[in-house]
Amino acid sequence: MRIPLNPPFVKGGCSRVQESVKGAEITSILLHACCGPCSTFVVNRLQEQGLEVSAFWYNPNVHPFREHQHRLETMELLARAIDLPLVIDEGYDMLKYFQAVVGRESDRCPDCYRLRLSRTAEVAHQRGFDAFTTTLLISPYQNHDLIRVIGEESGEERGVEFHYEDFRPGFREGHRISRELGLYHQGYCGCVYSEWERYGKVKI
Ligand code: SF4
Repeated sequence: MRIPLNPPFVKGGCSRVQESVKGAEITSILLHACCGPCSTFVVNRLQEQGLEVSAFWYNPNVHPFREHQHRLETMELLARAIDLPLVIDEGYDMLKYFQAVVGRESDRCPDCYRLRLSRTAEVAHQRGFDAFTTTLLISPYQNHDLIRVIGEESGEERGVEFHYEDFRPGFREGHRISRELGLYHQGYCGCVYSEWERYGKVKI
């Protein structure tokens, strides 16, 4: 099932494959999915460009564990609803997340991006995808430019291309679609720090 998009985001009848900045043809792409709601628009946008999209779940930054499971179940629900192949990373690397950010709590997001994008690049390479990207690029709340830099570095390290695209114009549309589908919307970014900042109204 394809999700109907409202104008002006419908690109209309596009069936070409994407050409990367390096000029190579990209047909298959592994999409790191931070959550179901952010995936709706991005999946559609990539499919509109003729790409074969598979989603990848790796978010050890989401706490506590039951919240992680709830978001994962939401992603699985979406994947089933739209026939989207979904690769789920085994386990829950919460300790790895904390090992990466403890001591740098006020500047933790770069390490969080790196953890997730590096793993996505690794799996994309192992499974023979032409490229990878992330739904984090749709969020107006994330550090967009930094995600791009870390994505490109991770791709270079693993020998697989990072597909950069500014999905932010589709943020509202994506959330409209996900509400229509009845998906769960989380109230904070993911980590315990972000939960405290959101509900404790503090800035770490
Ligand atoms: S605020 Fe979000 S992006 Fe930043 S470290 Fe926490 S979960 Fe990761």
